Amino acid sequence: MRNRLKDTPVIGRKRVLLAAPRGYCAGVDRAVIAVEKALEHYGSPVYVRKQIVHNVHVVATLEQQGAIFVDEVDEVPEGSHIVFSAHGVSPAVVKGADDRGLLSIDATCPLVTKVHREAIRFAKQDQHIILIGHAGHEEVEGTMGHAPERTTLVQNPGEVDTLVVDDPDNLVWLSQTTLSVDETMETVNRLRQRFPNIQNPPSDDICYATQNRQVAIKKVAKDADLVIVVGSANSSNSVRLVEVALEYGAKAAYRVDYSSEIQQEWLDGVETVGVTSGASVPEVLVDEVLAELSDAGYADVGEVKTAEEDLMFSLPKELRKDSTGGVDSRALGGRTR
Ligand code: SF4
Repeated sequence: MRNRLKDTPVIGRKRVLLAAPRGYCAGVDRAVIAVEKALEHYGSPVYVRKQIVHNVHVVATLEQQGAIFVDEVDEVPEGSHIVFSAHGVSPAVVKGADDRGLLSIDATCPLVTKVHREAIRFAKQDQHIILIGHAGHEEVEGTMGHAPERTTLVQNPGEVDTLVVDDPDNLVWLSQTTLSVDETMETVNRLRQRFPNIQNPPSDDICYATQNRQVAIKKVAKDADLVIVVGSANSSNSVRLVEVALEYGAKAAYRVDYSSEIQQEWLDGVETVGVTSGASVPEVLVDEVLAELSDAGYADVGEVKTAEEDLMFSLPKELRKDSTGGVDSRALGGRTR
């Protein structure tokens, strides 16, 4: 419903600073299209383990198209198609699906798969992995499942102090892909102080999309009285954007799923509103936020761009393999919608 927000006067000029990059990353784009293509090719229903990406609007839209979201593979009728989400799964989940005769389509983001491969490699080398991440997050469960005996989870710098390890000289750290870059470096520095011989991963685990969105909102936040982050509550990278905005100077910052959640009082005395969105957010939801802000007098929108993104991933191999049967095998990613 439009025209909820009133155009109340402020002392200076009302404006919006729109962060870029924002919204869909290549991994999310690929995962969502994988479900759409699976539905198109195999027909409804197609089952999806967990939310394909952490966004309520995306999940609701795919449900309308015939996707059925389940928590575990044992809820899926034998012989059905199941898509694994962008956050990745443990080998135990893959085996559970195979044992049930399910036809799996793995939409794990390739950048999460990279972390899985690193975990497997370090475990084979008998190293112990300190995984920096959030307990209960699907990506963390999937990564730990690749080396369960050799991985210990650390959630923040404070937890490093109480960490107990067998061999302090045989450690390597990895991280969840969607964390705060700054807080992760604090945790890593604390790890290095306690365990000077801990090994670094071969490359950054925090993905390009998470990093780019944080850099952009840092630049916006310093000039913003208010920052609105579009994204769902269970979207790790969206929640981090709120934290980063507050840390880098925004006077207030809120996360919303939909524009209808913006409260009139958030705008009291606000000249500059910063707007961004998490990596699982379709651009249409940002457009709706901009439209509501325009109703409230914030029609002047300037983009603050800190990076270009053109990374693209191809469809999951199961869909590419079936391309002769009509599934589109084109390369994907990077687009916003
Ligand atoms: S946020 Fe990063 S790791 Fe997650 S799906 Fe997007 S590109 Fe992949």
